[in-house]
Amino acid sequence: MQTRKVIIASVKRIYLDYAATTPLDTLAAEAMQPFYREQFANPSSVHAFGQQAENALENAREKIARLLNAQPDEVIFTSGGTESDNLAIRGAAFEARRLRGADHILISPVEHHAVSMTAEQLAAHFNFKLEFLPVDAHGRVDPAEVKKRLRPETAVVSVIMANNEIGTINPVAEIASACHENGVPFHTDAVQAGAHLRLDVGSLGIDLLSLGAHKFYGPKGVGVLYVRRGTPLLPVQTGGGQERGFRAGTSNIPYIVGMAAAFEVAQQGHPEHRERIAPLRDHLIHEVLENIPDSQLTGHLSERLPNHASFAFRGVDGNNLLMMLDVSGFACSSGSACKTGNPEPSEVLTALGLDHSWALGSLRVTLGRQTTEAEVADFLDALPELVETARQYA
Ligand SMILES: *Cc1c(COP(=O)(O)O)cnc(C)c1O
Repeated sequence: MQTRKVIIASVKRIYLDYAATTPLDTLAAEAMQPFYREQFANPSSVHAFGQQAENALENAREKIARLLNAQPDEVIFTSGGTESDNLAIRGAAFEARRLRGADHILISPVEHHAVSMTAEQLAAHFNFKLEFLPVDAHGRVDPAEVKKRLRPETAVVSVIMANNEIGTINPVAEIASACHENGVPFHTDAVQAGAHLRLDVGSLGIDLLSLGAHKFYGPKGVGVLYVRRGTPLLPVQTGGGQERGFRAGTSNIPYIVGMAAAFEVAQQGHPEHRERIAPLRDHLIHEVLENIPDSQLTGHLSERLPNHASFAFRGVDGNNLLMMLDVSGFACSSGSACKTGNPEPSEVLTALGLDHSWALGSLRVTLGRQTTEAEVADFLDALPELVETARQYA
């Protein structure tokens, strides 16, 4: 009986990994089409073809700026969230040292690797001093803890807006204001937030904000770094002077146009999406915790992304569980990356204070626009047995 259920479920595949990436929005896909073949010119060219491409580029920039409540010249196009994080951290750190001898970097212990590995490299090879902020059991940073650790020689502070592994949302406005009182630039990785949260950089008071289009139903390989006017930033990629010298390289017009269209849909359509998706997510969390013994939610219960559910199951190998789910037709994730071979809990789960027996059994289930109630019901039907089986093999 049990085997049959698994075989039936394997006929259809259910995608519950929208935090890893999202499918391209239809409007975005359509908006991109003319810029591959008809309007193919280099926006840096002076001729009419070039001007047409430049118009498309600047329209996209204005659209994104408006949605962020920013100025167009504060929007820098990059190749994605990873590059935006690199430019923000490395660019701010180097410029702060050049201008005021600052060499102290303050980040949370729950950053995406695009931030944490960049900061680690600056510490290991470029003589910066890296300090980690404490987080509570839900992975949240207390603004008071930031205040305590700010120094005159702090070059940059970075705290993730919404965590990719555990969904927790940080009080970035309060953290930004603590940084400003001390004249220190504040960066936030908002890559996961782009699809779900209003990103008003004016009222949030953020200096540097990273976005990656493929997390909000835009194309892969394109992103934004918002840079508040006057924020000291040394370019990381030098060359032809595009993006006001902050990021050289011929602009990827189709992707940039697609990103702007997708961002508009995500930011304008978000309340309805939230109204539908958050209750479905709450139902999922409730049922998992109710029906699976030795289970817990990771991350904050209410201060979390509306599409995001993440769990720890005691005495389970998360990678085994993922593979069993996949065989049964469910695409989930265990965290930021699957490190097979050497089971080590992620830095994020370790920072929450989860011990090994819990932290190895993590599962991330993220919903999206295409997720239906029936899909969630199928998942909830299948999960308890799979966790039980995974426990026997742990
Ligand atoms: C996906 C992700 C990134 C990396 O963005 P890419 O566009 O894939 O390079 C950075 N930070 C967070 C929080 C992410 O979820």
